[in-house]
Order: sequence, then C-alpha cells, then structure tokens
Amino acid sequence: MTKKPSAIVTGAGSGIGRAIALRLAADGYGVLVNDLSRDRAQTVADEIGKAGGLAAAAAGDVSRSEDVVAIHAAAVAQHGEVDLLVNNAGIVHQASFENLALEDFDRMFAVHVRGTFLMTKAVLPSMLERGEGGIINVASQLGQIGGIELVHYSGAKAAIIGMTKALAREVSSRGVRVNAVAPGPINTPLVLGLSDEWRERKKRELPLGRFGEPEEVAATVAFLASPAASLFVGQTLGPNSGDVML
Ligand code: NAD
Repeated sequence: MTKKPSAIVTGAGSGIGRAIALRLAADGYGVLVNDLSRDRAQTVADEIGKAGGLAAAAAGDVSRSEDVVAIHAAAVAQHGEVDLLVNNAGIVHQASFENLALEDFDRMFAVHVRGTFLMTKAVLPSMLERGEGGIINVASQLGQIGGIELVHYSGAKAAIIGMTKALAREVSSRGVRVNAVAPGPINTPLVLGLSDEWRERKKRELPLGRFGEPEEVAATVAFLASPAASLFVGQTLGPNSGDVML
C-alpha cells in the first residue's frame, strides 16, 4: 500500500482551516490538525476519523518556535515527511490607527508572519531534499486592498503575499510550489470579531451578494495542492465573492 501524502493545516480547529483539513483528508491526505486550542484541534481530528479519514491533532502556537518544532515532529511521526503545509492560523482585531497599540500590532505580525515563517522553515528542508512539496498560505483580500481599521491585519496579510512570491521564486525549480489564497469575507467565527457595520457594508458591496463559506476556500486550496495547478507558482487566488478583481 502506498503511503498517504502528509499535510499540516495550522489553525484548523475552526472556520477555514477546519474546512481545509476535512477537504484534504477527503482527498486522501493524512492531516495534522494544529490549533492553539487542544480541544478544537482534537474535535476536528476526531471528525475526520469518523468520516473515514486519517488525522491527528497537535496543539500549539505557530508564533512560538518550540511549538512549531513539536507540531512538525507530530506530523512526521503520524504521517511521515510533510508533503503539504497550509499556513492558515490567524486572528483578527480591529482598531483605528490612532488607537492601535504596539502590542496588538506585534501580535498580529507574530501569528501571521512569524508563524508562516517558522512553519515554512520547519517543513521546507525535507521538501527540498525530496524535490517535491507544496506550501499554501492563507492571506486575505485585505492584504491587497487594505481593510478599514485593520492596518496591522492588512499589513500582515500583504507580507504573506510578498513572502509567497519571493519564496516561490527561490524554490519552484527545486520542486516546491508555493502559492496563496486571499479570501474575501467568509462565514466563520473570525468575521464576528469585526463590527456589525463592517459586515453589513461589506455584504452590500459584494458583486456576488453574499459572504463565502469555508468549504469554498477549501476547494481553492485543494485545487492549488493538486497536480491540476502544476503551473500555478507564487500566485494569490481570490475566492472573494468578486470583491477584488485582479
Ligand atoms: P477562525 O477564528 O474561525 O479560525 C482561526 C483558528 O486559528 C482558530 O481556531 C484559532 O484558535 C487558531 N489560531 C489563532 N492563532 C493561532 C496560533 N498562534 N497558532 C495556532 N492556531 C492559532 O478564523 P477563520 O476565518 O477560519 O480564519 C482562518 C484564516 O483565514 C486566517 O488566517 C484569517 O486571517 C484568514 N481569512 C479569513 C477571512 C474570513 O472572512 N473569515 C477572510 C480572509 C482571510
């Protein structure tokens, strides 16, 4: 029997990450479900198991290097060398720039940018050695257009898009494809952290007239991970209800 490909999905205890983990498991990956919350990670891993998939849970904070070492080790121990990393863990917090505290700015960059950096550092050497692998970063359309009272969030997501492109230039010829998704508003607990006014205005603006569902983002990630996306390198795909058209 051939070994299942192995994937890590960070922040997979909820929302988009959970949908990505379920989808990758259905597509035949052994999935390491990471989340800050041990309970949420375990619940999603159990859900995958009940559906006949292969998954294990590893709690940990992607911004802490010791946690990242443990998350990576758990993935390798459970499912073998990592074939696909999805950097999805994220937080949101809204504040006008005048009211934006340095600690909130630093935390935003720690989770999104440092977390993406550390997780990528952990999995990349083995991918390069084997000459194959995929990395998919979950950015946001707000990294492309800027969000209201979201300087730190938009800046962190723009950084992720830049990192995706730069790393893709460096490693693609050695067999590792790096891409990103930049979702528009998606129905998850995270958007409840934004103001009611923000959500109402956004809904009116969307050409599609509705927020996306996590499974619709997961479908984009599954496409980028698949051989069908073999020519997609350093791209940022936008499952965004038409909010940003590039
Ligand atoms: P969510 O709040 O439903 O899930 C995020 C998960 O990440 C949570 O379970 C949380 O515990 C986990 N997490 C947070 N910090 C972590 C850390 N340091 N280490 C490990 N896990 C951590 O949010 P979501 O909407 O599913 O967001 C997932 C990703 O999608 C985020 O990167 C977010 O910025 C991005 N995104 C979301 C939307 C949206 O509208 N929901 C739009 C664009 C991009």
